[in-house]
Amino acid sequence: MLEIKNLSKSFHENKVLDHINLKIEKGDVVGIIGPSGTGKSTLLRCINQLEIPEEGEAVFGGKTVDLSKKHKDSLEFRKSTGMVFQRFYLFEKKTALENVMEGLMVVQKKSKADAKAIALKELERVGMASWANHYPKHLSGGQQQRVAIARALALKPELLLLDEPTSALDPELVGEVLETIKNVAAEGHTMLLVSHEMNFVRHVANKVIFLDGGHVVEYGTPKEVFTNPQNERTKEFLRKMQ
Ligand code: ADP
Ligand code: MG
Repeated sequence: MLEIKNLSKSFHENKVLDHINLKIEKGDVVGIIGPSGTGKSTLLRCINQLEIPEEGEAVFGGKTVDLSKKHKDSLEFRKSTGMVFQRFYLFEKKTALENVMEGLMVVQKKSKADAKAIALKELERVGMASWANHYPKHLSGGQQQRVAIARALALKPELLLLDEPTSALDPELVGEVLETIKNVAAEGHTMLLVSHEMNFVRHVANKVIFLDGGHVVEYGTPKEVFTNPQNERTKEFLRKMQ
């Protein structure tokens, strides 16, 4: 479904991603783990084109897209991805419903009535329909993140990118967001999930990537990576995460 080829990104002298290659099949839930500062966010941001890498291609829907330049094909590819951030970035002055409607109207040019119908359905899916008319400041962090997930899903992305969706939450709110993500995954959405919740990654992902020092150090099924890691750095990381 998606292939990332030779993705390299530096910030000044700091080479964060060094010729990353990835292959993702439709329906894959790919867990990305690795130490802090190792380029996990940068990887998602390059795929979502919030960062422009020096080098790198995405092969998607039979087309090869050069990610190192902004052009029509890369914009097209960008539209097939949706992103959920650690900090939810909801519009403070809009209700939950209006937050989900926004992209549908602005990006997809849907009518207000159509956008509202779709948005309500998406809020329903994440268990937030009864909060549709509430403003973000009246929602808990977990509820806000569920709205952010609904907002991303409303645009029907073919690839959902989640960057540590639970790490800004109070511990008691993590569970409801993980539950929501688990449900979304069970519906067959293809996703790349960066997370420090090792148990969750282990259960929800069908592939796991351990990223370190700008490289994919380890790649395999959760069972392979978590119970039988081949690389010393993976072993050490997992030991520390326990
Ligand atoms: P992770 O998500 O794995 O914690 P990041 O992708 O956020 O790591 O960051 C990887 C490295 O790139 C870090 O050293 C970080 O300081 C650096 N970095 C990330 N974004 C920028 C930026 N916009 N400008 C300069 N350096 C950055
Ligand atoms: Mg990060």
